[in-house]
Amino acid sequence: MAGTGDAAGQAKTGELAIARSVAELRRAHDAWLRRGERIALVPTMGALHRGHLALVQAAQADGARVVVSIFVNPRQFGPGEDLATYPRPEADDVAKLRQARADLLFAPSVAEMYPDGFSTVVSVAGVSEGLCGAHRLGHFDGVATVVAKLLLQAAPHVAYFGEKDYQQLQVVRRLVRDLDMPARIEAVPTVREADGLAISSRNIYLSAAERQIAPALYRVLSEVAGRLAAGRSPAAELARGRAALASAGFSEVEYLELRDAETLAPLTARTRPGRLLAAVRLGRTRLIDNVPMPPAARQTAEKPLDATRG
Ligand code: AMP
Repeated sequence: MAGTGDAAGQAKTGELAIARSVAELRRAHDAWLRRGERIALVPTMGALHRGHLALVQAAQADGARVVVSIFVNPRQFGPGEDLATYPRPEADDVAKLRQARADLLFAPSVAEMYPDGFSTVVSVAGVSEGLCGAHRLGHFDGVATVVAKLLLQAAPHVAYFGEKDYQQLQVVRRLVRDLDMPARIEAVPTVREADGLAISSRNIYLSAAERQIAPALYRVLSEVAGRLAAGRSPAAELARGRAALASAGFSEVEYLELRDAETLAPLTARTRPGRLLAAVRLGRTRLIDNVPMPPAARQTAEKPLDATRG
């Protein structure tokens, strides 16, 4: 690390400290705690963009010391996925974190995170199943395992996650609740390009032609949400939305679903806060996105009741 021992001191001057080991991270953490400071963690896989930086800003607004982790976690990539080609522009990331005035970058090696003999898998049932969990087998075990490690290593007061990866956010919330982890989990809304495309490190894989098609994912989600809000039937509108995605030019529509916003159980009516979630493939790129689907305003029995009272 650049000046391991004085990580906390460096951070105070606005300089970005870099920790490559858990021991270095803890030294900085302990120094901050001794000064009574609060600590926020922003876990990422790097190739930082405006979405990640929105998490950093939210953490700063909370007045905490901001630790950003960059770790391309092999355990959340399946066979045939893009682990080898996932972008790793560390020098650019460091520059962005300096500019954003983050306090510490935790960038461990694979050997630091998973030393020989590593045998533990953290698995969150229920909320991990279906949606991306059905298409990326083992993915959420990898996510839950690494997030559990990061939360224990960095021991933050609060950790920030993006709504962009909505199922991941719910997996993390469940994990933290089930294991009585003390960190508070905060969600940050999805940051988008001007045409609506959710910003993602994987968008660089898109060809120019694919980039033209990609915003249709958010457009269709928004259209379906609008029609559901107008009272149309979820089953019919989801089918129509899937057809609209297929005809927009995506090579495959993995899913377009209306789910309970918290449990992610299927929702057939707008009786509870919901989430519309979709995953599509576009050439070699997999894109995911989601939008909120508030419950229908209650056509309550109270009205006639009020009328009779009146
Ligand atoms: P990743 O580096 O893709 O693993 O993402 C790290 C964190 O940044 C996760 O909590 C993501 O949900 C969040 N994130 C990624 N893209 C966006 C975005 N466009 N808007 C908001 N948060 C995002």
